Amino acid sequence: MQRLQGIAVSPGVAIGEALVMGNEGFRIPRRFVARDAVDDELRRLDAAFTVSAQQIQRNCDAVSSELGREYGAIFEAHLQMLNDARLRGEMEQLIRERHYSPEYAVSRALRRYVKVFQSLDNNYLAERANDIVDIEKRLLRNLLGRRREEISSLTSPVLVLAHNLTPSEVATLDREFVRGLVTEEGGSSSHTAIVAQGLEIPAVVGTGSFLTEVSGGDVVIIDGDHGQVILQPDEETIARYRHDAEQHRSHEAHLATLRDLPAETADGAKIELLGNIEFPHEVRHCLSRGAAGIGLYRTEFLYLGVESPPDEEGHFRAYSAVVQAMGNRPVVIRTFDLGADKAPAQASADDEKNPFLGLRSTRLALRNLPTFRTQLRAILRASAVGNVRIMFPLIATILELRQAKMVLADVVEDLEERGEPFNRKLPVGMMVEVPSAVMMIDHFAEEVDFLSIGTNDLIQYTLAVDRSNKDVADLYSASDPAVLKLIKIAVDAANRHGKPINLCGQMSGNSTYTMLLLGLGLRQMSVAAAAVPEIKRVCRSVTLDQCRAVAERSLAMENARDVTSYLKEELRRVLPDMADVA
Ligand code: PEP
Ligand code: MG
Repeated sequence: MQRLQGIAVSPGVAIGEALVMGNEGFRIPRRFVARDAVDDELRRLDAAFTVSAQQIQRNCDAVSSELGREYGAIFEAHLQMLNDARLRGEMEQLIRERHYSPEYAVSRALRRYVKVFQSLDNNYLAERANDIVDIEKRLLRNLLGRRREEISSLTSPVLVLAHNLTPSEVATLDREFVRGLVTEEGGSSSHTAIVAQGLEIPAVVGTGSFLTEVSGGDVVIIDGDHGQVILQPDEETIARYRHDAEQHRSHEAHLATLRDLPAETADGAKIELLGNIEFPHEVRHCLSRGAAGIGLYRTEFLYLGVESPPDEEGHFRAYSAVVQAMGNRPVVIRTFDLGADKAPAQASADDEKNPFLGLRSTRLALRNLPTFRTQLRAILRASAVGNVRIMFPLIATILELRQAKMVLADVVEDLEERGEPFNRKLPVGMMVEVPSAVMMIDHFAEEVDFLSIGTNDLIQYTLAVDRSNKDVADLYSASDPAVLKLIKIAVDAANRHGKPINLCGQMSGNSTYTMLLLGLGLRQMSVAAAAVPEIKRVCRSVTLDQCRAVAERSLAMENARDVTSYLKEELRRVLPDMADVA
């Protein structure tokens, strides 16, 4: 049994079989082959060995002639391992006797060797483990024909363990069978975290490397409340976690009783609690949790995991499904926030050095007007179906906002010419997620109908900490007084200008921050559907005076750690069973 600590990003407990996606994303499930297919599978293994040996020999020759024989020796060692009859025999035995697929047999046999090498108290041998991993990758690549199997078409429940998942993979995860996610990389507001919350499956990110320790089919526990992952758990641990999972379910059932109660503070202030979605089907979760509307629809997921970008009808179908399902409740459709970590398959392969500071979001939209206009037309058309609002992400300057609004005005004219119905008074808003937008907030507030603070980005751009990098995850904190001050400036300005302001970053879904945010003057919060009941519970348990005092005290503190522990303490005083959150 082995316990890993990562970052808890989506709550709940999942116990099940691992599906491992290595660095190169090879899926290595425990598959069985039919008895009468064993000979064919052995031939497939043989072919993979032959091709792998040829490739290694070629590398060996090339490196030896370029750099000398001593460098080529690295590959000679690989060849020796590949030619080791015992290793090969072990794999063949697994196929012949246990009927494992060659992929699984290769992975299982080689990972056992890796473990042995790593456990030896000898640096030289421990490093040789990497050579074995290299051979495993090569064999798998040749067996799988470089094809990255899709995690979108599974046949039984799995917990996906990966080095990292691209947004496209996350977008196409098989919702029926993926019951939990763990990634070696990633931070608390990476896309994996956001999508796992949307799917309502337990997830842990940023564990550091562990994939060589586990094989597809091994039993794994994911504890999404405490950020723990347990590999090969013993029976006692499994029983304990089963009990925890049961408790989690009954806590959820208890919270469900809040669904039809209003989100208001104990002294009667009305709070608008909205849901965040990435995919139209999540609307169901929002409604069942009692969300008053959709505060953030991340439409970029429409572009991910597909061969070509959606056309106007594709956009319209998705938006009108959401809008109709929500009845008269508001739906804030955010125009695509592509770029940075969310690059669609069709994007150019140019590597940006700093993608989060590069051609992302509204900047990208303004450079790709036909794509942008297609989306805007569909959003406008959806506004005839229900209560739609449009929002532009990552606005850093007034000129950028004006340009986006100009494109929208242009598209309005198109639709008028086409005689299509749409809401002429469609409310237009922007996200406040760059410090420059906060510093210029009075100007912005005059030019939009509403604002929404995106703390996931605001934190990273304020503290210069990549939101998805596990190595700096400890520096990424919503509690940092610098972040709190920026939120306060934005909320005060919006209130002065009489413009509604929401907070739709992960921060508002974390009950640790609810009192603080109410105290800072926020009356709208948009959270993952699963968080709605808990946040509502906090709102209903506190008074605004209490919250203002909490905000004032937090703003006077000098570091994130003090703020976090103070906020947890305050929450525990109000609701003693809570405050066990990140
Ligand atoms: C944010 O940055 O807080 C936000 C809500 O947008 P996203 O997480 O999609 O970048
Ligand atoms: Mg953002």
